[in-house]
Amino acid sequence: MDLRDAIRTIPDYPKPGILFRDITTLLGDARAFRRSVDQLVAPWAGGKIDKIAGIEARGFILGGAVAHQLSSGFVPIRKKGKLPHTTVRIAYSLEYGLDEMEMHEDAVAAGERVILVDDLIATGGTATAAVQLLRQMGAEVVAACFVIDLPDLGGADRLRAMGVDVRTLVA
Ligand code: IMP
Repeated sequence: MDLRDAIRTIPDYPKPGILFRDITTLLGDARAFRRSVDQLVAPWAGGKIDKIAGIEARGFILGGAVAHQLSSGFVPIRKKGKLPHTTVRIAYSLEYGLDEMEMHEDAVAAGERVILVDDLIATGGTATAAVQLLRQMGAEVVAACFVIDLPDLGGADRLRAMGVDVRTLVA
């Protein structure tokens, strides 16, 4: 089974000219969902990973399943203003303008081994900011995992240049 077949591409979403990779079809396909999670966890099976950090919102779905499989804790990284306790925050660039993401200040302890999970890496702006936030809290970012890589946009290379082990399932 090719995971690519389970991912739907929507033209002109969210705006004209964008080809949006929609993983809801993969999530709704029991075999494709299981296979994706199995492939994401395989390199770390039996190893000690303290926390999975998932990026809002699709990173929560995949990251939760990965955390369960690896018997790790789960840490949500969210858009600003959504987390109830004291947070640490980082600004990052989007295609137009800036946004901010946050995590709870006590979500990871110094030295904890953390894997970052999201559905897709494009320019890498979101993931590089998340890695910076985790490192700021003293976490060891063991890897960053994505179902989809858009290699023409250079995000995975950008993350690797920061010394992150990047794993992606389909390009
Ligand atoms: P980046 O910051 O440019 O790497 O964009 C990655 C972020 O935007 C991730 O959180 C993705 O979930 C989201 N994203 C960008 N393009 C797509 C897409 O085509 N499908 C699903 N998510 C996308």
